[in-house]
Amino acid sequence: DKNPDGSLKYTKEGAHSQPRICFHEDITGKEITTTLQTRVKELPNVEIREYTVMTDILVENGICTGILAKNAAGDILKLHAKDTVLATGGIGGLYKHSTNFPSLTGDGLDVAKKHGVRLEHLDYVQIHPTSLYSKKPGRSFLISESARGEGAVLLNGKGERFVDELLPRDVVTQAIEKEMEKEGSDHVWLSFKAVPEETIRNHFPHIYEECLKEGYDITKEPAPVVPAQHYFMGGIYVDHFSETTMDHLYAVGETSCNGVHGKNRLASNSLLESLVFAERAAGKIAGREDEEYESNYDAACCG
Ligand SMILES: Cc1cc2nc3c(=O)[nH]c(=O)nc-3n(C[C@H](O)[C@H](O)[C@H](O)COP(=O)(O)OP(=O)(O)OC[C@H]3O[C@@H](n4cnc5c(N)ncnc54)[C@H](O)[C@@H]3O)c2cc1C
Repeated sequence: DKNPDGSLKYTKEGAHSQPRICFHEDITGKEITTTLQTRVKELPNVEIREYTVMTDILVENGICTGILAKNAAGDILKLHAKDTVLATGGIGGLYKHSTNFPSLTGDGLDVAKKHGVRLEHLDYVQIHPTSLYSKKPGRSFLISESARGEGAVLLNGKGERFVDELLPRDVVTQAIEKEMEKEGSDHVWLSFKAVPEETIRNHFPHIYEECLKEGYDITKEPAPVVPAQHYFMGGIYVDHFSETTMDHLYAVGETSCNGVHGKNRLASNSLLESLVFAERAAGKIAGREDEEYESNYDAACCG
């Protein structure tokens, strides 16, 4: 989103002391994905196969040479490639409560493990403090941290605040869980009382609508929230170019572990893991691993 003068708008999320996050309403990821998909479809050298699932990698003499996949008709396909990139996302589908799609079941990790490719920090799983509490089954709706960044506060059953809402996710999650245990409740409340109605309607239109669907008008009353599995910091071990321990096999995005998040990702840093490392993998595959590229990388990421 932009200011009237055309400059980018920034917002705050958990553990941020100043606004530093670019956003688009409350659907930043959708905006990025839609733009990327549009651009990819314009490329003449890219073939997109929908409803096709990667079931294994092809390996010859310890080198990855492509993938095995299954299409909607049940045909098994052998897709050969000089280089293969796993980008199969996180593991939320393995959990009862997660903000991820149920189809994200760590397939890339499973395949990597089967072939002895190194995995790292499989216990580094992030729980998001505020998903909308619902008795309906399926993916939990995330109430973005920027809501708390803009002034929304957490309340217990007595309407009292019990934590600094902008502490890192694990700390806020632990405080919520402790409060729920103390009260014997299955959720706490998120109040938007301090957030101007105009901000709610303009900055959080989807959160407003989703809460309304559950029966809560957040311009007038708090909404029930509960922690849910949200992000996987561990994954397939990769180097600075997103290459795994198997030659010609790369892993990017949430399925990889490049160490940038440590044990606890900060809000919006998944862009570093997905976009930056994907670009670096693409650069290496395209033969751009020259000295200048390496030193730019060191200055930008490791300095
Ligand atoms: C609700 C929500 C809000 C978020 N908000 C933010 C945010 O504001 N800022 C931020 O930085 N991050 C955010 N994140 C995290 C971020 O969206 C993810 O980390 C990021 O999308 C991961 O990108 P990815 O490409 O690695 O995986 P994904 O975007 O999950 O894509 C993985 C793809 O692989 C496909 N796939 C999986 N297995 C197979 C298989 N076997 N064969 C074929 N295809 C397969 C899946 O269907 C999926 O399309 C959010 C996440 C959620 C769930």
